[in-house]
Amino acid sequence: MDGICCDRCGKGLLLDEDVRYQVHIIVQAAYDPMEITREDLQKTSSSTWKALLDRLENLTEKEAQDQVHRELQFDLCPPCQKLYLEMPLPGLSESR
Ligand SMILES: [Zn+2]
Repeated sequence: MDGICCDRCGKGLLLDEDVRYQVHIIVQAAYDPMEITREDLQKTSSSTWKALLDRLENLTEKEAQDQVHRELQFDLCPPCQKLYLEMPLPGLSESR
C-alpha cells in the first residue's frame, strides 16, 4: 500500500521493477437509499428497530462501517498482477 513494496510478495517495486500495478477494491452495500420510503420507516416496528440497534451495538465502529463501505488499495509487481488477474476472487476463476 506504500508503493514501495509489492503487497503480495513483498518485493521492492521501485528498484526491481519498471512497472507497478495498483489494485483499488471498493466493496459496498448494494442497496439504493432512495428505495427506503417514509412509509417503510413507519411500518418498521419498534421491536425491529431495537433488534437492529442491539446488533449495531455489538459491532465496533469499524465493523459497522465495513458492512456498508470498504476500500482497499494494494500495489503489485508485474508477476503478482498477472496472478491476481487470473483469480481476483479466491475460488472464482475468470472464465465463468
Ligand atoms: Zn509481487
